Amino acid sequence: MIKIQRASAPEVLADSPSEGMHYNKKEVVERLWEMQHGKCCYCEQRIPDEGHLKAVEHFRPKSVFRNLKNEWKNLLLSCAQCNGKKSDKFPVILSDTSGESETLYPETASRETPAVIDPSDPEINPEDHISFDFSGGDTSYEEYGIIMARHGSLMGQITIETVGLDRMFYAKKRYDYYVYIIMQDFRNLLIALSQGNERDLESCKRTFRQLMSAKGEFAAFTRAFVRHKKLDRPPVGIRIPVGSEI
Ligand SMILES: [Zn+2]
Repeated sequence: MIKIQRASAPEVLADSPSEGMHYNKKEVVERLWEMQHGKCCYCEQRIPDEGHLKAVEHFRPKSVFRNLKNEWKNLLLSCAQCNGKKSDKFPVILSDTSGESETLYPETASRETPAVIDPSDPEINPEDHISFDFSGGDTSYEEYGIIMARHGSLMGQITIETVGLDRMFYAKKRYDYYVYIIMQDFRNLLIALSQGNERDLESCKRTFRQLMSAKGEFAAFTRAFVRHKKLDRPPVGIRIPVGSEI
């Protein structure tokens, strides 16, 4: 999950109409799809441009916050898996700062702090709250690259649970991405480094840079891998893109 730079509202939602299903109109879906580089706002898997796998996600569920169903800032695009799991859940952090969260459904929940991370919130960088653990053996998706709350973040933990980002379905997808995409480039990079081949090294760095761009599938996962392997430091020194940077 990475930060999403919110695009301007499409014309059809300019006045946040209270009636109708304007949020599902083609121009809205297309604007969201472009804004998120064709990826799910939560799990970052690619969402096909065609077909019915795109789901307009209401960050504050429309079943509860009916007045926000056509509110542009409340809309994101998610994959069918994330959309189905999050459903109408909207946990909030209670203001008594007990450290506990509670799932609230009433309209009054808008006054509380959402416990799920809104990736388009300019104040929040999802990568501060959610990361991946690469310390396990790299031969199994059950041990390697496990999603986790970063520095014990409560928001990170609740987001993972609410959207179900720790489901095996995603762990397998990310692990396949590691094996078939990331590891190939990592191997080439190590060879170039050991041979002192500057040209190949630069080429591998460029590839990593593209994978970590906001356009890259599982960009947060790749960024965490690069941090774990310390490739952002000498002698490699790849610069990790920040937030929604492409
Ligand atoms: Zn998803």
